[in-house]
Amino acid sequence: MKQDDCIFCKIAGGEIPSHTLYEDGKFKVILDVAPATRGHALIIPKRHYANLYELPEDMAADVIRLAKKMMEKMTDKLNCDGFNLIQNNGEIAGQTVFHFHMHLIPRYHNDGEILKYTTISPSQEELEETVVQITK
Ligand code: AMP
Ligand code: ZN
Repeated sequence: MKQDDCIFCKIAGGEIPSHTLYEDGKFKVILDVAPATRGHALIIPKRHYANLYELPEDMAADVIRLAKKMMEKMTDKLNCDGFNLIQNNGEIAGQTVFHFHMHLIPRYHNDGEILKYTTISPSQEELEETVVQITK
């Protein structure tokens, strides 16, 4: 399924060019045009799913398998020192392209702090309430 106004559908279909690292029947892995670090790439399914909520479970398993494979290859070839996998769902979570994708971000000792969030300080009671809310 393809969504006409979706940039990643167009990239997946080859209508818009991309710097492709890997391609198979289900996925394309491309370099991000605005990379956080050298080699920052995106795993994009060829079919349109807006986010992880919509992605079928078997595809989700395929994504993590491919992420591991790409991460190992990129670490070897780029000689990076670590790796972040990031996957944003919803505008509030930082998603800007509403076609599922997973970021593959090689990390280098000198690349600076590219990901930072402040922490909150919940009490023991609040932590327990959260457990109850999620699990009951
Ligand atoms: P997100 O904020 O998680 O939705 O990430 C969207 C990512 O897509 C951003 O890192 C953009 O730089 C990247 N991006 C947008 N357009 C293109 C494009 N045409 N080719 C490659 N990457 C793109
Ligand atoms: Zn799409």
